[in-house]
Amino acid sequence: MSFENLDLHPSILHALQEAGYTEPTPIQAQAIPEIMAGHDLMASAQTGTGKTAAFTLPALNLLATPHPSKSRGPRILVLVPTRELAQQVNDAARKYGKFIRARTVSIVGGMPYPLQNKLLSQPLDILVATPGRLLDHMERGRIDLARLQMLVLDEADRMLDMGFMPDIERITAALPGERQTLMFSATFEGEIARIAKQLLKEPKTIQIAAQQAKHENIEQRLHFVDDMGHKNKLLEHLLIAPEVNQAIVFTSTKRHADVLAEDLHAAGHKVAALHGDMTQGARNRTLTKLRHGDINVLVATDVAARGIDVAGISHVINYDLPKFAEDYVHRIGRTGRAGKSGIAISFASHAERFQLRKIEQFTGHRLEASVIAGLEPQKRIQQPKPHKFGDRPRNSGHPANKSGHPGSKNGGYKGAGNRNGGQGYGGEKRRDGEKSFSKRPGRSFA
Ligand code: ADP
Ligand code: MG
Repeated sequence: MSFENLDLHPSILHALQEAGYTEPTPIQAQAIPEIMAGHDLMASAQTGTGKTAAFTLPALNLLATPHPSKSRGPRILVLVPTRELAQQVNDAARKYGKFIRARTVSIVGGMPYPLQNKLLSQPLDILVATPGRLLDHMERGRIDLARLQMLVLDEADRMLDMGFMPDIERITAALPGERQTLMFSATFEGEIARIAKQLLKEPKTIQIAAQQAKHENIEQRLHFVDDMGHKNKLLEHLLIAPEVNQAIVFTSTKRHADVLAEDLHAAGHKVAALHGDMTQGARNRTLTKLRHGDINVLVATDVAARGIDVAGISHVINYDLPKFAEDYVHRIGRTGRAGKSGIAISFASHAERFQLRKIEQFTGHRLEASVIAGLEPQKRIQQPKPHKFGDRPRNSGHPANKSGHPGSKNGGYKGAGNRNGGQGYGGEKRRDGEKSFSKRPGRSFA
């Protein structure tokens, strides 16, 4: 199948050609005709499958026909959970909409209001926004939503997690009822299904290939660790291996990301931190450096690293385990991009077995523990309880050294500081408080 079969405006086809896209991805091939036929849609597909273009292309196609109304407000509204994602969607809309001259604006938390007011006072077609900040502007009467035709909720499950649903409900209540609504989410189970039912009218449903079948190009490893000192030694050992081209190291807090980045810098790595406390400009500069290979190691938090698409990333290291099993999938999806293979390595203490099991249940992939000679965990491994995947014991106690290279000589760096720094999300308030790991609905991407 080619994009020509999709009835898209020639200007859009032209832009796709320039972008080097030859054929639609499966989610694009399925979603674009439904959206162009005017249906509401709920769609789930794994990360990296091209969901952005799946909604951006038909949205642009809508713009190819001028709107009769004289109002200047956006015709398309895309709600996203984070600044990074807003930027990505905005960039994609600009790229694919280059020849139809779509006017797109992104409005996110952490940016100065006067600048945003100026952007919003100009005529625009596509508005990409994080919910909190958008609502602020709506309440100040700064946005004319009278000619809005399409609402897109990208990463809806994530917005739910981040406590944005009350904001989203207030936003949607203020939109014209005559609109088309599209919802993209990793999962449509639990609470998100209720929200979908409320927001979508007779939606078409698209679910692309089970998660388990994917990630075949990513080798997943697990190291049991005793404590932070042990983590640091393992990390240093892993990062100096010649097969590491670029790595993203995930920590659970922003503070921890900073401290670890400083320590790695002191150890001689070309490293930077990426998290939600940094200004947008600083984050963009860091990502540019990563893309250009000026940085080999990025120490990041979940939200800040979401969606990073850099082909050079050979390794993802979960220095701290993610809080939610979905984040594990998003994290490891930062490697193995653009048809390459990747390696994802997780550190976990024995106390974190429950979290590991959740991850395994979510991905359907069993994580076998490996050890590195000279860096074996010293704490005793308890006999595992049988669980869903329990055809074998979880850990034999004598696992193989899978990675082969000898123990690191320089034994790690100082402890990485306060672990209670508190995770923030893209400059917007997290409004739902903490949620326990187990509360998340189980399956997704299915
Ligand atoms: P998702 O939102 O599903 O995680 P993205 O929309 O961010 O995925 O797309 C992932 C990558 O795939 C991006 O780099 C994008 O430019 C690229 N891409 C999307 N559609 C196509 C296509 N049809 N052909 C080639 N590359 C594509
Ligand atoms: Mg996406």
